[in-house]
Amino acid sequence: MAVDWSLKELYESFDCESFKNDLDKYDAHIQTIKAWTKTALINHEEEKEKLETIIKDFLTLGEFEEKLMAFTSLILSVESKNEQGIKYQAILENKSSDLAGTMANIYQWISEIKELDIVVASSELLTAHSFFIHEIVEEAAHQLGEKEEEIIARMATTGSSAWANYKNLLISMHKVEIEEDGEKKEYPLTVALNMAYSSDKEVRKRAYHAEIESYKKIEDGVAAALNGIKGEAITVCELRGYQSPLEMTLEQSRMDQETLDAMLTAMKESMPKLRSYLRRKAELLGYNNGLPFYELYAPVSEKDMAYTYEQGQAFVEENFTNFSENLGKYARNAFDKSWLDVYPKEGKRSGAFCSNLHSIKESRFLLNFGNSFSDVITMAHELGHGFHGHCLNDETALNTMYPMPLAETASTFCETIVKKAAIKQADKEEAFSILDTELSDATQVIVDIYSRYLFESTLFEKRKVSPLTVEEIKNAMLDAQREAYGDGLDPEFLHPYMWTWKPHYYFTTRHFYNFPYAFGLLFAKGLYAQYLANPETFPSDYEKLLALTGKMKIADVTKAAQIDVHDVDFWRASIQTIEEDVEAFIQLSYEI
Ligand SMILES: [Zn+2]
Repeated sequence: MAVDWSLKELYESFDCESFKNDLDKYDAHIQTIKAWTKTALINHEEEKEKLETIIKDFLTLGEFEEKLMAFTSLILSVESKNEQGIKYQAILENKSSDLAGTMANIYQWISEIKELDIVVASSELLTAHSFFIHEIVEEAAHQLGEKEEEIIARMATTGSSAWANYKNLLISMHKVEIEEDGEKKEYPLTVALNMAYSSDKEVRKRAYHAEIESYKKIEDGVAAALNGIKGEAITVCELRGYQSPLEMTLEQSRMDQETLDAMLTAMKESMPKLRSYLRRKAELLGYNNGLPFYELYAPVSEKDMAYTYEQGQAFVEENFTNFSENLGKYARNAFDKSWLDVYPKEGKRSGAFCSNLHSIKESRFLLNFGNSFSDVITMAHELGHGFHGHCLNDETALNTMYPMPLAETASTFCETIVKKAAIKQADKEEAFSILDTELSDATQVIVDIYSRYLFESTLFEKRKVSPLTVEEIKNAMLDAQREAYGDGLDPEFLHPYMWTWKPHYYFTTRHFYNFPYAFGLLFAKGLYAQYLANPETFPSDYEKLLALTGKMKIADVTKAAQIDVHDVDFWRASIQTIEEDVEAFIQLSYEI
């Protein structure tokens, strides 16, 4: 069985005729659009025809761009040093940024169409892309002039982007000094962080203390980067006329404040229950005042379930099929057609991802399969993303771009299918171990994400007045952790430096990159509850729902599934499925 993915469906190689031809065509197309924009968009005659030309151009351009860029980045993800890949990546990035100014002009022209609704309604093609067109108009309301946009973009390369690079440098070079058997050893930060999963309590504790201690060396630099990036964000938000960075994030996420408020209300209500999981876990590990931060990822069971890749495939396919014939067939087809790159190898990146290739109606999956149960879950997760792409195959490319909060829905949903099936078949000790993994993840996505949301809110509020000192940033983090974790964590052992290595606070154009994770998890759980209530009809409704995710606001997508995300009760019901897991975990902890 093939364990390396096949990319020949895109191109045979960088040297093949069709890669070279597509690159030429892509380039020619960019030049055509630039020239056409200069002559055609100087007035508003024949708006319908011109708008149709724009949509058609975007579609053609997008197809070349996706094929060329996907092939290049997929090659690089398994061969990071591929020289042709590195070269073509730079060439493609240049070509696409070459179009930035023209794009701004096109967006501007669209936003100036006076009777937009009438123009859109007069054409089938435009009607099919109504959401895409209207979103451009909404965005244009916050766009500044061509000159200002160019200045902001250029200044950011030496401002927020430079700060982000500096922070990445500090963190990637950062070493943690850990004393082992009377000898001091230096470990890269990632290795020290991984010690939190060790089965040895002493190792976990030592790594935590050493990690906290180590940040003194870089805290001033990292804080300067944080202050710089958030300061620039506040300035840019003001210039663009947003009330706050949160409002900007919500708009980028196609989500409204009402949805966020309803979700946060239910999350806050659930904290006591989730803390009771942490307190029970603490007791099991021998603590009586809540869990120390360094025990959040500690394993509570020695039971390790091993799966070969073939066994993992069979387990996923079987349980996907139990959900629906289509989902099961999708997975089998992906396995048979070599859409997965399975095992770790030299030069291959870590982690896992799914790349949906709309242009050829296929997907590719990168895994680093290591024969554990969590690798099977990761496989189900990525196949879930792939199935999402599959459901979008009949939409045009411009109608497939779904926002971040909806991005993790299909993947979490498939994870849930497989975890629930595994718990059913497992013996008590295995079920206990699966529940612990599940709840440890859920705690991160509900409780920790809530603390990050609180922290980032305080950060922006204070940064508006002046940069924060290291002490102030640490205190803001501790306050946020106390409020979110409450008595779940031992107040003596919190983590005042959780803002240092987490990448999300340092994204230069995306802020509050936290609540979308909670949305993804809880929306998927809500859908799963619907599935349990209607196992016969749900699977086809689910496919229809996924097909809508790229062309509606979030509240409208969910309405199509009869879900009202403005209603706190929807979120409460989702969280209840997690609370039931907490009860099962506590129950089992007394039985085994
Ligand atoms: Zn994912």
